[in-house]
Amino acid sequence: MISYKYKLYTSKRTKHLDRILREASYVWNHALALQKRYYRLFGKYISKNVMQKHFAKRISRNLLHSQSVQEILERLDTAFQRFFKRLAKRPPKFRRAKYFSSFVFKQGGFTLNGNVITINRIKKRFKFSYSRPYEGKVRRIIFKRSPLGEFYLIIITDANSKSYGKTHDGASVGIDFGLKTYMVMSDGTAVRNPQYLKSDLGNVKRKSLNLSKTKRGSNNRERRRMELCREFESITNRRNDFQWKLAHELCRRYDYIFIEDLSLSGMTRLWGRKMSDLAHAEFVNKLEYIASKYGVTVHKIDRFYPSSKTCECGYVNKNLSLTDREWICPECGKKNDRDLNAAQNILRRGISELWSGCQTESDSAIHACTQESNAL
Ligand SMILES: [Zn+2]
Repeated sequence: MISYKYKLYTSKRTKHLDRILREASYVWNHALALQKRYYRLFGKYISKNVMQKHFAKRISRNLLHSQSVQEILERLDTAFQRFFKRLAKRPPKFRRAKYFSSFVFKQGGFTLNGNVITINRIKKRFKFSYSRPYEGKVRRIIFKRSPLGEFYLIIITDANSKSYGKTHDGASVGIDFGLKTYMVMSDGTAVRNPQYLKSDLGNVKRKSLNLSKTKRGSNNRERRRMELCREFESITNRRNDFQWKLAHELCRRYDYIFIEDLSLSGMTRLWGRKMSDLAHAEFVNKLEYIASKYGVTVHKIDRFYPSSKTCECGYVNKNLSLTDREWICPECGKKNDRDLNAAQNILRRGISELWSGCQTESDSAIHACTQESNAL
């Protein structure tokens, strides 16, 4: 399954999509209200099938395709199931039409022809920017509205995702994530934190101040809200672009990539890291996805391993504070640069973890591991 995202051209006709979303939110809210009332009266949950039958028979719709309705009910059911399994803290909520953002076609209800998609039920045609061809058979079509009110078309096909060619020869690397520098690699290269995020922070502050000065419900407020939305979207786009490119570059260069397990380090370290950990976790997700296409191994080291506090000789400096950029080991007298030392420790630790974990697996992997550790 591959999903392709295209931007729909905004025109007078997009108001029809807004109307469809309004009806979609009605379906959601109506079904949710039914569930609540039923639970209050009988203490039971209405199963997905019963709910879908009820909507197919009793609830008349003017704009939505029957399968789109079924899909919304499926979404509601998934939200409830997550709540029952304690994966979500709260049951699903009522949604305002303004913030209901997507509807789906499964097999029927639309006609796709070049860069024009027709929604059969309302007999309206929509053009989208056909930025790249899609491959395979269409499985799903999603119309999605961004916070800016623009529409995107997501086409999901059954094509298999391609794997990329490798240009490297068994090299491995350890990576330490940081705030000031985005990451430091065990070979000493540092990737700087993209400065635009910082410079944009000023813009965000100014624009949210502008927003807060406007009167509630005024046209002016709506305009200011849009300006702020656009700013956030721009930041997200640029951050994603930077992260994808970096992930590709790393996977092209290395066969084994060792990183710290971020899920807990955010809590074990100072709270100040939390913000960056969020962005880094996002990057790690992308890296793992790209790595699977290149056939690259991404290994997370043991989360309790003190990577920046350990010296090459094995001494652990417990007094190391976050502000110390470098420290001298009292055991062997080596001068350790904080980030570089951490990256090298992550590499060493990662290799030994992989070594102990994959002894039964292919010998070539182990061979590559040991070669690299000898080089250090
Ligand atoms: Zn030492």
